[in-house]
Amino acid sequence: MTLHQNLIAGEWVGTDGVANVNPSNTNDVIGDYARASADDAKAAIAAAKAAFPAWSRSGILERHAILKKTADEIIARKDELGRLLSREEGKTLAEGIGETVRAGQIFEFFAGEALRLAGEVIPSVRPGIGIEITREPVGVVGIITPWNFPIAIPAWKVAPALCYGNTVVFKPAELVPGCSWAIVDILHRAGLPKGVLNLVMGKGSVVGQAMLDSPDVQAITFTGSVGTGKRVAAASVEHNRKFQLEMGGKNPFVVLDDADLSVAVEAAVNSAFFSTGQRCTASSRLIVTEGIHDRFVAAMGERMKGLVIDDALKAGTHIGPVVDQGQLNQDTDYIAIGQQEGAKLAFGGEVISRDTPGFYLEPALFTDATNQMRISREEIFGPVAAVIRVKDYDEALAVANDTPFGLSSGIATTSLKHATHFKRNAEAGMVMVNLPTAGVDFHVPFGGRKGSSYGSREQGKYAAEFYTTVKTAYTLA
Ligand code: ADP
Repeated sequence: MTLHQNLIAGEWVGTDGVANVNPSNTNDVIGDYARASADDAKAAIAAAKAAFPAWSRSGILERHAILKKTADEIIARKDELGRLLSREEGKTLAEGIGETVRAGQIFEFFAGEALRLAGEVIPSVRPGIGIEITREPVGVVGIITPWNFPIAIPAWKVAPALCYGNTVVFKPAELVPGCSWAIVDILHRAGLPKGVLNLVMGKGSVVGQAMLDSPDVQAITFTGSVGTGKRVAAASVEHNRKFQLEMGGKNPFVVLDDADLSVAVEAAVNSAFFSTGQRCTASSRLIVTEGIHDRFVAAMGERMKGLVIDDALKAGTHIGPVVDQGQLNQDTDYIAIGQQEGAKLAFGGEVISRDTPGFYLEPALFTDATNQMRISREEIFGPVAAVIRVKDYDEALAVANDTPFGLSSGIATTSLKHATHFKRNAEAGMVMVNLPTAGVDFHVPFGGRKGSSYGSREQGKYAAEFYTTVKTAYTLA
């Protein structure tokens, strides 16, 4: 089987490979992917450091052309790359292709941004002096990504990092190296100079840690768990470096008495269960007012009966497998915890088998949950949601905000008054009205507040804040 190597200083290197296994069928090995060592990570950082002076001064047309070429190739290969994504991560083929197209669009967006770099010219308070405010690249950027969006998250970090003139050391999640390898290969062939983008696939505790410990990494952008995020933060403060964290969520979806029931159920099922619930924007707390509660629960049960849980690559599958055995254990542990805490497992929650060996779990819906239960407070990261019954809108809003997290927050209502109030008062970075809590556009800011995120926003024009540093220059005319 071909070994997919790491890219360091423009050379493909590495001999040891680890198998990348399909969670829909554990007999299916996608390929072997090299594991970088701490020394490889150090070599990658040195290469990125050496490449920085030239790349930071590269022409905007060169950056534009490379990012645009990458966008075009990703979109041209969307079916193949989408299939690779679904095969390594387990989301359905439609979701895999959709995510691939989004990655292409992100590269296209930042190809455009490279041509729109601009600053400000402002008069000084002192006559005869002019002030220029410009954005400069930060330096070597470390990129650490999780397994749940194998192509979109790498794209939304790598594209802006390169667009604004930074050089990169990129470490994808161990479970899904395939899509990351593919986009690095595309960028490399698109003409990136040696050392500008380095790929170091491998363990977080080894490769990621080497990035955290290096004084030569000037910024780290991280998406993953709260625990690792805290390590990134502590190490970054130590080195006085910029850092950006996207971590967990425990996103609420409020359903009010006046909601359109079918809109509420579609949004809730999508938020809670699509992509196997493995999205940081997934909704796991369905906060429902008492006038619609019973009708909502019954309609959810009906809708869930129609969900097809099967091989991610099969036509007709709505929900693919859980990503691996460890995550499946975590999901079933929480399903047991919810029952012990006194919530009622109303629908689903069984581990099921299909034609091929994989990690299949029926989506689980709890009712009679409270917001104090562990299943309502801790991120499960699987297709598990709990219905919390509340009296009215005011209680719903209070419960929605009563969480350590603050990524996304949704409401189903036909009341303009409640929708407006909720948009203003939800303690979250993103608010959705009559829409799922997950599913966001590629050209606008993404991120949260409270325990979910730290630092400036990702994506869209707002990405410039993280990937650049501001310079204010004064000139006596
Ligand atoms: P998840 O539970 O979603 O896998 P993690 O935070 O463990 O979340 O993983 C997210 C990313 O962080 C992965 O690429 C992983 O390899 C990396 N990572 C894990 N441990 C460390 C560490 N000590 N230092 C740096 N990166 C790490």
